[in-house]
Amino acid sequence: MTDHFELKLVSSRMLAPGVRHYRFARADGQPQVFIPGQFVQVHFERDGVQLKRSYSIATVSEGDDAGLVEMAVSFVPGGAATNLFEGLAEGDCIDASGPYGRFVLHDADANGRYLLIATGTGVTPYRAMFPQIRQRIAERGQRFVLVFGARSPTELLYGEEFEAFAQANPGFDFHPCFSRSPRDEPRPNDRRGYVQDMLAELAPDAATDIAYLCGNPNMVDTAFNALKAFGLPIPAIRREKYISPPAPRAAIAPIPT
Ligand SMILES: Cc1cc2nc3c(=O)[nH]c(=O)nc-3n(C[C@H](O)[C@H](O)[C@H](O)COP(=O)(O)OP(=O)(O)OC[C@H]3O[C@@H](n4cnc5c(N)ncnc54)[C@H](O)[C@@H]3O)c2cc1C
Repeated sequence: MTDHFELKLVSSRMLAPGVRHYRFARADGQPQVFIPGQFVQVHFERDGVQLKRSYSIATVSEGDDAGLVEMAVSFVPGGAATNLFEGLAEGDCIDASGPYGRFVLHDADANGRYLLIATGTGVTPYRAMFPQIRQRIAERGQRFVLVFGARSPTELLYGEEFEAFAQANPGFDFHPCFSRSPRDEPRPNDRRGYVQDMLAELAPDAATDIAYLCGNPNMVDTAFNALKAFGLPIPAIRREKYISPPAPRAAIAPIPT
């Protein structure tokens, strides 16, 4: 159920240059309930205008982190929400609502394989899906391939977590795709180029595959068209584009007369 609540910052850490991981607890003490893949909206005021921005929930709902709202925020120079997040100290509260969204695994899916594709902070929904992915591999025999695009190894958010998850869960393959610089010592599953360059190697197949695309809107559009060309039907390609809403009219400076 969608709710409005305050989130209190418990801790935060840099994940990569310009990307910070935040751990929030609800200020009312309630555990946050969500389906992995959903997002929250953060509400704030800037220059007298009410704004909101969306952030995927990154929380792996197991152990101490269950009930928290974790998110990875990519800082955009001059960004309104960026300014809010950069100024947050532990114990500070922000106004939020949620959970929202249908970028989730569907119970009724009977496919053999999921292709999970992301760039940047778009990988966070898949982190939140860890418990579900583990369960589906064990109980349904489904397989997962995560293709994660980053410019360089320092930008591979949660890279070691995904590597460890892949090691522990045969049935989950992890392919980092480096578009600018590879690792000094490349690993067997590393690839060079953009995520869409790797699709041919995966041989997408309408008979077995459902794809999820999350992150940069250009990547989502490009990969969507590529997957369609491989024959995947549109309902089997689920998308979440990370875009900012257009500025509200009141925030647009009047044209001088
Ligand atoms: C469903 C959904 C989930 C999202 N989840 C996340 C998430 O988990 N993590 C996350 O970091 N973001 C996420 N986003 C994007 C997020 O909501 C904001 O758009 C982003 O944080 C920028 O907000 P801002 O207020 O700081 O910048 P704005 O004030 O909105 O933008 C400032 C300027 O930067 C440009 N800009 C905006 N975003 C980018 C960008 N990514 N790269 C380059 N230029 C940009 C704008 O066009 C504008 O010119 C999500 C968006 C959606 C719709």
